Amino acid sequence: MPHPATGVAAATTGLSKVYGGGDTRVVALDQVDIAFREGEFTSIMGPSGCGKSTLMHCAAGLDRASSGSVRIGTTDLGTLNDRQLTELRRDRIGFVFQAFNLLPTLTALENITLPLAIAGRRPDRQWLDHVISLVGLGRRLGHRPAELSGGQQQRVAVARALVSRPAIVFADEPTGNLDSRAGTEVLGFLRECVRELGQTVVMVTHDPVAAGFADRVVFLSDGRLADEMTRPTADRVLERMKEFDTRTRTG
Ligand code: ADP
Ligand code: MG
Repeated sequence: MPHPATGVAAATTGLSKVYGGGDTRVVALDQVDIAFREGEFTSIMGPSGCGKSTLMHCAAGLDRASSGSVRIGTTDLGTLNDRQLTELRRDRIGFVFQAFNLLPTLTALENITLPLAIAGRRPDRQWLDHVISLVGLGRRLGHRPAELSGGQQQRVAVARALVSRPAIVFADEPTGNLDSRAGTEVLGFLRECVRELGQTVVMVTHDPVAAGFADRVVFLSDGRLADEMTRPTADRVLERMKEFDTRTRTG
């Protein structure tokens, strides 16, 4: 369900995440406030180890915050027990990972509808048809993953993430395993899902070209929000990354 009262699909307030303790204590996220607006494609960028995956995992309810809060729509994740959190992830959140994680013995179409089958729910036929027409595999929908290219497999994984009509889709380095042509194919598909379906998408990447497909880029540095850019292009993102590098080295 959309939340017209807020227009925000997900948000964090003062989100911190600390791993370990004593000598091995790592502050992975430090007081992060961020909102992901409905129908917006946001890219999260920053150097390796800056907290991108941790932010995604906490925002998506895969991991608990050390302090601060996360909400999906109007639901505060901190108020949910583990079973409720699992249900929320299943019903309201879509995930795409670097590894496609498709089941090799199932066809593309079966992979796409698997989450619904597991949840014992009947698909919203119109939505399913729309998603399937967007994925654009035609007769290859009956093929197994091994018979599809990397880009096609990741498109199937994106379609699978969309099939439950999630409030938000989180993608962690979705083009990390793809060459640039296949990567572009998947990014174009994500872009289309945002445009055609009004889907809210948050994508973690360290690739300026990938970030250039988003509506907005958020830059993380050492677990903090460092900057933000709207209507990014790969060139502008690259320039900004270089500035961070210089600042980090000199100060
Ligand atoms: P990124 O995705 O930007 O590369 P991560 O979110 O994976 O960064 O990691 C942020 C910081 O937290 C890093 O210093 C990393 O070593 C640390 N970290 C991540 N996960 C764990 C964990 N499970 N236990 C301990 N430290 C972790
Ligand atoms: Mg990561």
